Amino acid sequence: MSRIAIGGFLHETNTFVPALTTWEAFAQDGAWPGAMEGEAIFTRLAGLNLGISGFMDEATLRGHELLPLAWAMAQPSGTVERATFERGCEAILKPLRGARVDAVFIELHGAMVAEGFDDAEAELLRRVREVVGPDVPILGTLDLHANVARELAEGANMLTSYRTYPHTDWGLTGKRAAQLFDRVMAWGPRPGKAYRQAPFLVPVTTGCTFTEPSGSLYAMIPAIEAETGAALSLNMGFPPADIPDVGPTVIAYAADQASADRAADRLFEALLAAEGGFARHRKLPVGEAVAHAIAAAARASKPIVVADTQDNPGAGSPSNTTGLILELLAQGARGALVGIVHDPAAAAAAHAAGLGGSVARLGGGGTGPGQQPAEGPWTVTALSDGRFAGTAPMLRSDTVEMGPTAVLAKEGVEVLVATIRQQPIHRETFSHIGRDPRAAKILGLKSSAHFRAGFQEIAEEVVVCLAPGENPEDPEALPFTRIRPGVRRRPAW
Ligand SMILES: [Zn+2]
Repeated sequence: MSRIAIGGFLHETNTFVPALTTWEAFAQDGAWPGAMEGEAIFTRLAGLNLGISGFMDEATLRGHELLPLAWAMAQPSGTVERATFERGCEAILKPLRGARVDAVFIELHGAMVAEGFDDAEAELLRRVREVVGPDVPILGTLDLHANVARELAEGANMLTSYRTYPHTDWGLTGKRAAQLFDRVMAWGPRPGKAYRQAPFLVPVTTGCTFTEPSGSLYAMIPAIEAETGAALSLNMGFPPADIPDVGPTVIAYAADQASADRAADRLFEALLAAEGGFARHRKLPVGEAVAHAIAAAARASKPIVVADTQDNPGAGSPSNTTGLILELLAQGARGALVGIVHDPAAAAAAHAAGLGGSVARLGGGGTGPGQQPAEGPWTVTALSDGRFAGTAPMLRSDTVEMGPTAVLAKEGVEVLVATIRQQPIHRETFSHIGRDPRAAKILGLKSSAHFRAGFQEIAEEVVVCLAPGENPEDPEALPFTRIRPGVRRRPAW
């Protein structure tokens, strides 16, 4: 039995979003609970599908004693403000100083950029190491979209990443870290560590494990691990980050360097060979996507899902663009349901107007691509407090909070507007307010791939649509200035 300190600090940073991410974004309850310290980790995170939750379950079963530090995660957004980064780190480090622990487990995302730190999580691990010294193992979990610099990979004794996108195995990844615990302890303070970095970026939607070649690449991992004894991970990277170490990596940890290298090379060769498969993914401009959806919906028994990937809040976008909505109206779509538009003003106006009332406009509010409002009048057809239990496996939760929420209708299009920004993961996003997503002819979702864990099974077809938005699906469109030389911004045929 060991005494293990546990904590987490997670953010997926889109450095192209101009606004800095402040502590408020970490403190707020939303799709998951807001920042917490100490015992609250046991009471508020137990049973959720998070890395730390899975780790706690399994480590407790194995008889380990857990010392709760602090945990905080914000929705993806712009670079983390320096003071916010310092606050998050300090919350973890303070209870660790002077504590006697045998190991530390930290749940990370792996794509956090803070002011002054391109790889903020590498800096956090450096500070944790400074506190606990060279002999206490540090373990952690990473998101599949981690942009891993060598310093991050080597800053821990073992990191293990999700293997599904949508991240249905988020909690399972934490559980795996706990299952690997004894092995990591046996490796001693200097395990073999291997790090490989791909020479190309993978667009976010293209890495979805419901699709190829991503599905097959992740499926290879358990067999390679069994053969080599290594803990092996493939990180797809998160393209909208203007840092040198953006993009896919393979990392491996093992008892010795040769085993770590062997495991990493096997997977890395497969990743390089898969480049052409990634390049073959097809996405439709918004006009084409809507025309296709209308035609397909006419003969479909289930909804045609149109993924508005370029306004996906899960990649840091504002979730208030109207390109897809305007196109649905322009092409006369019927039975269309779109969400989640982040528009606190329209939600408040709808609640003030009441059912049957009207709202002048929705969406917009910024000056970025696609952020012109959709003019009304929009009729208020449903209202809620935005609170529901979400059942999608990726982020199942008894208490999803969207804040005051409304459905606004114009012609054949209904739009769900909410007060707290998040992506539609759960079908209850719509059903809690009386809109059965299965009854929609066309379902427009501001999401890249996570929606698939809740919506793919009710969809006739999924179309990835390119409406104007702040999160260009094609990394070639991102104005990189600091990416390391020689990286292909999109996979080549
Ligand atoms: Zn991710």
